[in-house]
Amino acid sequence: MTRTAATTPPSIARRGVCFIISAPSGAGKSTIANALRAAEPRLKHSVSITTRAPRPGETEGVHYHFRTMDQFREMAERGELLEWATVFGRGYGTPRAPVEEALASGHDMVFDIDWQGHRQFREALPADVVSLFVLPPSLPELARRLNSRASDAPEEIARRMDAARAEISHWHEFDHVIVNSDLDRAIQEARAVLTAARLRTVRQTGLADFVTGFDA
Ligand code: 5GP
Repeated sequence: MTRTAATTPPSIARRGVCFIISAPSGAGKSTIANALRAAEPRLKHSVSITTRAPRPGETEGVHYHFRTMDQFREMAERGELLEWATVFGRGYGTPRAPVEEALASGHDMVFDIDWQGHRQFREALPADVVSLFVLPPSLPELARRLNSRASDAPEEIARRMDAARAEISHWHEFDHVIVNSDLDRAIQEARAVLTAARLRTVRQTGLADFVTGFDA
């Protein structure tokens, strides 16, 4: 017997994915995240809070929410940050409310956060997180990329190289890892990780009724 009702999978609401991308500064993480957003218009981007000063070209509410250390601490104390960490001596944190709204409404969200934030996310939302670590092709190449950024002072670059080594030491805590030696391939691989996360059985419990139509 032909069951026409079961031939077209229904579009079923599902909980969103928290797609965490971490990497040392200069590994190409922001470029990959931007390309993902361009390719996947429904993917939301989490705008973090930071206490550092804006760099040239950075806009309040787009790249970061720029706040004072006092404001940052108050938000953390009030529980308004899903996770927070000190990176390069400055506060960075993820506002909680937009994440909860996005996940509940079935939107996937991409996070550009460090290994400390990743650990906290795993504890807070274990079923929602899929994570990706981006490695640079080599440390000399990473140094070259950091040097070519005009916006950071030399002492800041040296600090970031030390921090890069520290960040890389956590690569094995992540679900997936890629080496960004070819940007197009890295973007393709990051999209593949996101696609696979969306297709996980646990995320598609709404398919149960659809599958019932396949019963003998
Ligand atoms: P940058 O100052 O270069 O924009 O970011 C410095 C580092 O802070 C990067 O490794 C970035 O991933 C991390 N970072 C940015 N936002 C957050 C956040 O909300 N939480 C955590 N834990 N790290 C963040």
